[in-house]
Amino acid sequence: MPLVDRDDGRIRRPCTLPPMFYDDDADLNLLDGKTVAIIGYGSQGHAHSRNLKDSGVDVVVGLRPGSDSVAKASSHGLRVLDPAAAAAAAEIVMILVPDELHGAVWKSISDAIEPGNTVMVAHGFSVHYGTVTPPPDVDVSLVAPKGPGHLVRRTYTEGSGVPALVAVHQDASGNALAQALAYAKAIGATRAGVLETSFREETETDLFGEQAVLCGGLSALIEAGYETLVDAGYDPQLAYFECLHEMKLIVDLVYEKGLAGMRYSISNTAEYGDMTRGPRVVGDASREAMRAVLGEIQSGAFAREWIAENNAGQESFGRMREQQAGHKVEVVGKELRGHMDWIDASFDE
Ligand code: NAD
Ligand code: MG
Ligand code: MG
Repeated sequence: MPLVDRDDGRIRRPCTLPPMFYDDDADLNLLDGKTVAIIGYGSQGHAHSRNLKDSGVDVVVGLRPGSDSVAKASSHGLRVLDPAAAAAAAEIVMILVPDELHGAVWKSISDAIEPGNTVMVAHGFSVHYGTVTPPPDVDVSLVAPKGPGHLVRRTYTEGSGVPALVAVHQDASGNALAQALAYAKAIGATRAGVLETSFREETETDLFGEQAVLCGGLSALIEAGYETLVDAGYDPQLAYFECLHEMKLIVDLVYEKGLAGMRYSISNTAEYGDMTRGPRVVGDASREAMRAVLGEIQSGAFAREWIAENNAGQESFGRMREQQAGHKVEVVGKELRGHMDWIDASFDE
């Protein structure tokens, strides 16, 4: 049984922090005699498949015939079938294709899902916004690593793990949470800590984080800072170092020691400027924009827009991607990073 239920339209927080689940709270034996189908072999797919296999779980990877990933998964010692056959061979089906393809992939595998099976995702978008609609006689759960797939694999091989969120959307068996925790343990997540949430909370906070802070907010902040300096006549290479390169060094300090720890390491001049000027740059207007962005996520307006964009063939998505890749900060950055041979930009496994 879920310990907290926040799918009722309200977000309720107990007065104490909700429990974290660690290795001792999860039982790998719950996956004994079961086959897990991983549909897709990208960032998350390769990591889940390989970690599950190394944890002793029977894994089959579901890929379209002719996909480039078939050779890769096979070379990692994994059995590969087409998605429908993989789903038919498994009791637990984890969908790890891009969110915008979940609906199409679901159509191709749903006939192979039997009563008592489990459907899983690593992000709640498709289930929460209704592009995937499993029948009532299956469990539906989520294990969402809070980090890129390549780190899910690397940390597992190093003996640690990436923390994750777990949620149950549908508990037909009465055992959905325990099984999701076993899955989380098998990919290494319970080594770092797993937090129970709901599909709604995971989906909305994940979208908000990537839009307002981590990806959207960060990219816009870097570009705006860079353009402000360059437009005022300063050297573009200097502007790159100041607004982009140094970002990582500062974020590393924040990650390790929090904001106060970062402020301890910077000069008093920097700290005074930080506290008096930062809130002017990200002030009332930005907070209002953040609330509006969150509102579009909560109302489903963002999801409808993104689904429509995909139905239209991702035309404006592709155009924006191209435009962004040609931004001045990218051109100068490519040149400068070419001289920093200690930066390993390769994600290939
Ligand atoms: P990805 O783009 O890295 O990989 C997608 C894979 O799916 C590729 O191997 C592709 O070949 C395959 N694929 C595409 N169409 C297919 C089809 N019709 N049938 C079978 N396979 C197909 O995807 P990703 O970034 O790993 O995202 C997968 C899921 O994990 C998403 O729900 C995402 O929100 C979630 N997630 C991703 C991350 C991350 O680090 N990228 C983090 C947390 C959660
Ligand atoms: Mg996300
Ligand atoms: Mg400085």
